[in-house]
Amino acid sequence: MIRSTMQRVPLSLNQILERAGRLFPGSEIVSRLPDKSLVRHRFADFYARARKLAAGLRALGLKKGDRVATLCWNHYAHLEAYFGIPAAGGVMHTLNLRLAPAEIAWVANHAQDRFLIVDDVLLPLLEQFRAQVNFEKIVVVPLTRARVTAPFVDYEAFLAAAPDEFDYAPHEEDDPIAMCYTSGTTGRPKGVVYSHRSTVIHTLMANQPDHWGLGARDTVCAVTPMFHANCWGIPYACAMLGVKLVFPGPHLHPEDLLDLFAKERPSYVLGVPTIWLTMAQLLESQPEKYKLPPGMRMLVGGAAVPESLIRTYARHGAHVTQGWGMTETSPVGSIAYVKPELLASTDADARYKLYATAGLPAPVMDIRIVGENGAAQPWDGRSVGEIQVRGPFITGGYHDTPADPEKFTADGWLRTGDVAAIDADGYIRISDRTKDLIKSGGEWISSVEMENALMAHPAIQEAAVIAIADPKWGERPLACVVTKPGKSAAADELRAHLAGTFAKWQLPDRFEFLDAIPRTSTGKFWKAKLRERFK
Ligand code: ADP
Repeated sequence: MIRSTMQRVPLSLNQILERAGRLFPGSEIVSRLPDKSLVRHRFADFYARARKLAAGLRALGLKKGDRVATLCWNHYAHLEAYFGIPAAGGVMHTLNLRLAPAEIAWVANHAQDRFLIVDDVLLPLLEQFRAQVNFEKIVVVPLTRARVTAPFVDYEAFLAAAPDEFDYAPHEEDDPIAMCYTSGTTGRPKGVVYSHRSTVIHTLMANQPDHWGLGARDTVCAVTPMFHANCWGIPYACAMLGVKLVFPGPHLHPEDLLDLFAKERPSYVLGVPTIWLTMAQLLESQPEKYKLPPGMRMLVGGAAVPESLIRTYARHGAHVTQGWGMTETSPVGSIAYVKPELLASTDADARYKLYATAGLPAPVMDIRIVGENGAAQPWDGRSVGEIQVRGPFITGGYHDTPADPEKFTADGWLRTGDVAAIDADGYIRISDRTKDLIKSGGEWISSVEMENALMAHPAIQEAAVIAIADPKWGERPLACVVTKPGKSAAADELRAHLAGTFAKWQLPDRFEFLDAIPRTSTGKFWKAKLRERFK
């Protein structure tokens, strides 16, 4: 009998905060305020202020496991909440400020949020649902420097009044530190609760060179909202490595972002494809005015990334890395990069094909694709099935929600609701979400592939393909498209363009030309809205 001699020390987010304060006090955090000015903090400030926040919450009576909600844009104080709330033993619950007020109230009540940290510029939003919730104390971040009045507490005054002495709450590695609700595009939102352990493992995993590849020379601009799936884990990763962070605050229009990029020159940015689609339009139409920092890398995910978008950014000197994941997977489940054995054999075109996949499965996570017959499908690039995953940063259930066989298998795997093929090299090609599938005459049509092909047409800015009920074929694809400013394309021309890659029976009979594709609360194309509109 032999036993491991390794120590069993609990993994802890507090260790990342301690490291950030001790090793990287000089690293910078830049935040854009509502008036568009920039405010600068050092990691030394972040460290001290996160601990002050923790001490203040403790003094307020926060008990282990109590939920503290945030209703905030991306900025220094939200970062302090990411670490300060767990340091006190609390659970940070990021509220999605783009949901309808009644929905935010429902989520806050379901999570039983006890305290709230809110931006002053979001107080009008809070007022729309404050009567429906029971926050014991509301702390307001004075981004505009306007005076905060009772019953609210000024965040700066709260930090100043907090005790200087602070000890981390004792904890086990499985104790919760944060929670995030799925966006609830189908049914009620569901709460995913992350632990010290899941977060530390996810951070170590995503910080590998072939994944995010962040390092000492990087400056990261987080365009992904901090309420969207933990900002994909980037705040934890940057704190662990001492990487400079740039937060855009409430200013997410592409013009504002490009202006911020020109000022702070990020080497790494992250966000959903829709943001970059709109930005590409500016880069293409006004090349004299708008430029990207040379060599910028972009982490793009949350929805399929069209190859055309990846090529467009390459022309502007930026490399797009596609990732796949979900709130339930912390969120990174896969990342697209060229694996060692393919480096020598792939030319530029072949590499773009790989970049346009969801990539290779993340380490320390199991993945399988399960067909309609319930059997795991081979990795042959053709067989499709639902992606199912299992691992230390994958949720095993939802907060205060009965177990649902639609979401978890009997043997404990998460059913992602994403349909994909995996090729022999391990690259994942997502063809659809289960709820977006199009089945025509008994055969599947991949809406993702068709959208990507449409967005590769020079006149098309945005495309979303949905299923429309059809008496003869069951369903037929309907393509909703948005043309680029000053450009046009007739339906027949688009059909001819698609005919290069799709069989005749797969081509949409109907095209709808729209001003914009509706967006979900996390900025993705909202197909459910389109299905409602064109049913
Ligand atoms: P929601 O989209 O409902 O707001 P999430 O942000 O958790 O919730 O999104 C997770 C979903 O986003 C995945 O299940 C998948 O359908 C989609 N998704 C994420 N990344 C990709 C990708 N690279 N390609 C295609 N779909 C993606």
